[in-house]
Amino acid sequence: MYGALGGPRLLLRRLREVMVEPVSPQARLDKIVVHIAANMVAEVCSVYVLRADGRLELCATEGLNREAVHLTTMRSGEGLVGRIAETAEPLALSDAQRHPSFSYRPETGEEIYSSFLGVPILRGGNTLGVLVVQNKARRSYSDEEVEALQTTAMLLAEMIASGELQSLVLPGNDIALRRPLALKGSAVADGVGLGYVVLHEPRIIIKQLVAEDVKREAERLDTAIAAMRESIDMLIENGNMGPGEHHEVLETFRMFAHDRGWLRRLREAVATGLTAEAAVERVQNDARAKLQRRTEPYMRERLHDLDDLANRLLHKLTGQSFVAAHEDLHENSIIVARTMGPAALLEYDRAKVRGLVLESAGPSSHVAIVARALGIPAVGDVANIIDFVEPGDPLIIDGGTGDVHLRPPPDVERAYAEKARLRARRQEQYHKLRDVPAITKDGVTIDLHMNAGLLVDLEHVVETGAISVGLFRTELQFMLSPQFPRMGEQEALYRAALDAAAGRPITFRTLDIGSDKILPYMTQVQEENPALGWRAIRIGLDRPGLLRSQLRGLLRAGAGREMRIMFPMIATLEEYDAAKALVQRELELLKLHHREPPSVLKLGIMIEVPSMLWQLDEVCPKVDFLSVGSNDLIQYLYAVDRDNKRVSARFDVLSAPILRALKFIVDKCGAAKTPLTLCGEMGGKPLEAMVLLALGFRGLSMSAASIGPVKATVLAMDLGEVEAFVSSLLRRSTGGRSLRDDLTSFAESKGIPI
Ligand code: PEP
Ligand code: MG
Repeated sequence: MYGALGGPRLLLRRLREVMVEPVSPQARLDKIVVHIAANMVAEVCSVYVLRADGRLELCATEGLNREAVHLTTMRSGEGLVGRIAETAEPLALSDAQRHPSFSYRPETGEEIYSSFLGVPILRGGNTLGVLVVQNKARRSYSDEEVEALQTTAMLLAEMIASGELQSLVLPGNDIALRRPLALKGSAVADGVGLGYVVLHEPRIIIKQLVAEDVKREAERLDTAIAAMRESIDMLIENGNMGPGEHHEVLETFRMFAHDRGWLRRLREAVATGLTAEAAVERVQNDARAKLQRRTEPYMRERLHDLDDLANRLLHKLTGQSFVAAHEDLHENSIIVARTMGPAALLEYDRAKVRGLVLESAGPSSHVAIVARALGIPAVGDVANIIDFVEPGDPLIIDGGTGDVHLRPPPDVERAYAEKARLRARRQEQYHKLRDVPAITKDGVTIDLHMNAGLLVDLEHVVETGAISVGLFRTELQFMLSPQFPRMGEQEALYRAALDAAAGRPITFRTLDIGSDKILPYMTQVQEENPALGWRAIRIGLDRPGLLRSQLRGLLRAGAGREMRIMFPMIATLEEYDAAKALVQRELELLKLHHREPPSVLKLGIMIEVPSMLWQLDEVCPKVDFLSVGSNDLIQYLYAVDRDNKRVSARFDVLSAPILRALKFIVDKCGAAKTPLTLCGEMGGKPLEAMVLLALGFRGLSMSAASIGPVKATVLAMDLGEVEAFVSSLLRRSTGGRSLRDDLTSFAESKGIPI
């Protein structure tokens, strides 16, 4: 029976003509259902569009009572149509009324139809509606018919996505594609951003869905697949991978690129009359719809791989570029990306970027560090956002809470606009505090230092009134560079940093690479536990050439000025001795070449590895200063990966085990009179900072944006009073429970801003 009227290709051609006719959206949809019904030899064809309120509205029908159009609605999950919307899977039944999900709607007059075939209208794996054909006679629909109807649904998806159908649904209802969405991610860089979506990797625009010549499309598909396979093979062979393109990932790609099922589905989709690129999108839509509903991490990984593969294929087929043309940037852009390297963010015009949203990058990723340095509000780990956004959609993000509002309703927009105004006002107040010394109400002076890693950060030193740069993460510059920076380049950078700091000292931390900090040009070592592996000073001591060239650059840049150098991840006294010996050798070399040494040279180490706590008696007399790297120290104390979302929120830093360990360090350093600071993220949070000061810290180093809020906290607190409360709380506390609530209530009762 099927095919008698020309098959799917003829239908697609007809529909393409209808798509460009200058008629109203309703008239167009009415024509479309007539054509589909005729072509599929069905008595009924209906289109249901999913609205923002979750209901499916009958928007056009051939065969059912016309009065039911815009009257009949059903919930997702309700009836056969609702079931298709919910599962995003086709449903073919020869006796529909006996199906347990069948829900009878008298106004439609559908009781006379036995057979039913419905398919979801999908875009990016999300359901936008349902397309149905029905027959009076009992019959079973063939696989080809299901396939053909799915292809047809793609055309409808385009029509819905273009916004043309918005005017059709009942007044006051948005179609689902345009509905407001509130999503939650992780807070990456504080700040509120209001703007419009710009996709970092623009979606490929498929200009032609319907093939002119099916044979040619099949050839185009085969050529593109061959080219894609070749480029993956080459990537693997050359080992010439970009950041994030790890060997294993590419091997998985290679596996999928040869997957017979995937290739067969692509070829079948072309055979139904789609262009090669539309076929890729069709097959990927189905895969997304299926895999998105799975919760196992493995399945989601697989979806990512398939997405990447489909994207590569689309790029080959359309020749469109991978990365947003930077001229596409409008005022108030919010960049949305699956993931992004730190260098890519720096390429955008900072003046136009209001925010950044990432699907798979968390707060300690490097792009996050760059976002914070640039003062761009950012939210990470926002699952599937790419599938929901359209370029130009209004978007609001709150980088302090991780909230993302896509196409926000007016009341949400008003609330955030107000929040942004308030923040700006508060920022002004912080600015006024710039020259006010950080002294507690009972007269204790606190040193507030700033963390930096890029030259752009250093603009903030003066602006914030920080007394020094307490941590300069030198590896960031290495990560942004296309190759290992030569000694001369390093020297120039460190000198420029010192110049920009306008007389304030900088504590340079030597290269802290390894773990998640990957240098794209260094061969990556595969390790089971990178955080416990070959990283930071361990690499520096095993490859002394690297460390020495950095030390040479630092010592030269510091000619005639104060130079402070700090070593990361030191686990034993001997490691420090070895690092210090390298400095000594470089100093001698300097003398040999009659170069001016730094006027003052101070060497220190980061307390990041718990083993250091039990070497403080020996270490303190040997160093000029110590700085607690609380991010790492806490991850090792609680044995909890700082980047693993599943476990990182399991323990609170404001708990007795951590606070007692920190107090232990303070006491040891106090007894030995060794200067001590803390430079991890906790130092920049007002409540945590209040507690650290109570434990005895007198110097904290934090991101530029934190200095104002922490200074406001310092100015409002009576240190003696806080000390008394914290020490009694620690005495009373048992186990590892969070003390956050007790501390928050205390601060609030004392009027300390946190
Ligand atoms: C730390 O570990 O606390 C720290 C400051 O270093 P990083 O965050 O760069 O590892
Ligand atoms: Mg660290």
